[in-house]
Amino acid sequence: MNEYDSNRIYDLVSTIGFSKTEIKKNADCFLLNTCHIREKATEKVYHEIGRVKKEFRNLQKPLVIVSGCVAQAESNEMLKREPYIDMVIGPQSYHKINDLILNYKRKKIKINETEFDVVKKFDELEKISNSQNKISSFITIQEGCDKFCNFCVVPYTRGPEFSRSFNQIIHEAKELVKNGVREIILLGQNVNAYYFSDNDKNYKLSSIIKELNNIKNLNRIRFMTSHPNDMSEDLINCYRDCEKLMPLLHLPVQSGSDKILQLMNRKHNIKQYLAILEKLKNVNKNFKISSDFIISYPEENEKDFQDTLNLINTVGFINSYSFIFSPRPGTPAAIKKINDLEKSKKKLQKLQNILEKIQLENNKNYLSKYCEVLVENKLKNDRKFFGRTKLMIPVIFEANDCKPGMLVNVKITSFSKNNLFGVSKINIEKVA
Ligand code: SAM
Ligand code: SF4
Repeated sequence: MNEYDSNRIYDLVSTIGFSKTEIKKNADCFLLNTCHIREKATEKVYHEIGRVKKEFRNLQKPLVIVSGCVAQAESNEMLKREPYIDMVIGPQSYHKINDLILNYKRKKIKINETEFDVVKKFDELEKISNSQNKISSFITIQEGCDKFCNFCVVPYTRGPEFSRSFNQIIHEAKELVKNGVREIILLGQNVNAYYFSDNDKNYKLSSIIKELNNIKNLNRIRFMTSHPNDMSEDLINCYRDCEKLMPLLHLPVQSGSDKILQLMNRKHNIKQYLAILEKLKNVNKNFKISSDFIISYPEENEKDFQDTLNLINTVGFINSYSFIFSPRPGTPAAIKKINDLEKSKKKLQKLQNILEKIQLENNKNYLSKYCEVLVENKLKNDRKFFGRTKLMIPVIFEANDCKPGMLVNVKITSFSKNNLFGVSKINIEKVA
C-alpha cells in the first residue's frame, strides 16, 4: 500500500513542478513514505534521515518530509526527535501535500498534518490520473481496520475501515489498462472487508472482481491482504467464475495454535481457517495459499510453536512471510512479557527453513513443464526477460520475440527456491 501511496504522492507533487531525480545531491526535497508495522521499519526512517543530513552537510538543506504511518504514530515527537524534518504528514492526509509545501515555503513553520480525512483523500486523488504504467499495478480499494488484533498498529495509524466508491475504482482500473497495465492488484489492510453502498446498490470485493474480469486487455487480477473472517462464499466463488482471478490467495493465519490466536484477538480458529481452504480447493483444485506468521508472541510455548510448524506442513503454504513479534506502542500486546530474542531468532530460522523447503519442492514441480508467464520487463541481457507465473513465482527466461505485457508460454529448465528459469517459444493467445 505504501508503494501505491508513494506513486500517488508523486502524481500530486508533479502538478506543482516536482520531478524525480536519481542523483541524491540534486534533490531539493526528500520525502520518506514510512511503515510502522514493526519496530525495525521505524528505526530505518531515522537512519535514512541521518544519511541525508550527512550528505547535505555542506550543501543547502533540502525540504524533508516524512509521510505514512510512522508520521501518524509519532507526529510531534518526530519533529522534536529529529529537527532536520520539516513536515510530517499522515497516510490519510497526503492529498493536502501541495498546499502544505507551498505554505511551508512561505512561512517556514514546521508542519504536523495527521488528520484522518480519508473520504476527501480519494475524492482529491480522483482529480489527477494515476500515472502508473507498470505491467502489474496496485489500486487501493479499502483502508484501515476495525478488527483490533492485539499486536497490530493499523487500526491506530490508518484509522477505521473505509471503502472507496465502486465507480471510482473501476474508472481508475480502466485508466491503468489504457496506460498498458495488464495485472491489477487490489489493495486494502482488510481488502475482503470491502463494502460500498450507492443508490441502494451494494458492492463487495466480488462485485469489483466480476467487473474487472470484463475489462478487455486486462489479463490478471489479484487482491491482498485478506482476513479469514471476511472470506465470504461469493468471494470464494469468484475463483470458479472469473478466469482472470489468479489461483493464489494471501490469507494470513499468524499462528497454528488456537490458544495464541485467541490471545491475539484474531476472532478465528484453525478449524475455521482450514474449512476456508477446503472450500477454495473445491472450486479450484490447483489453488495455493500464502500466509503471514508471527512467532514468539507473548505466552507462546514450544507446543504452540510446533502447532504452527504442523499447520505449515499440512497446508504447504508458498510465498509466505514470517516475523518475530514486535511490540508496538499503544497496542494491548505491547505491555506483555516478551520472549528471549535469541531463542526467537532460532525459532524463526526453523520456521523459515520449512517454508523454503516447501517452496523449493513446489518450484521443482515445474521442471520440464510449460507455464504461463506475464512478461513484466526486459533484463539488461538482450534476450532475457522477467515475468511471473499465475502463482506469482518470478521467472527469468530467454526469448527471441517478446515484449512486456505479453502472456507467454515458458518451458522451465531449472529452478531455485525463489525463481524459475526457462525458455519461451510460443506466445499464448491473450485471455482477454
Ligand atoms: N490485515 C491482515 C491480517 O489480518 O492478517 C494483515 C495486515 S498487517 C498490515 C501485515 C502483517 O504484518 C500481519 O499479517 C502480521 O503478520 C505482521 N504484523 C503486524 N503487526 C505485527 C507485530 N506487532 N509484530 C510482528 N508482525 C506483525
Ligand atoms: Fe492488523 Fe490485519 Fe488484525 Fe486489522 S485484521 S488489526 S490490519 S492484523
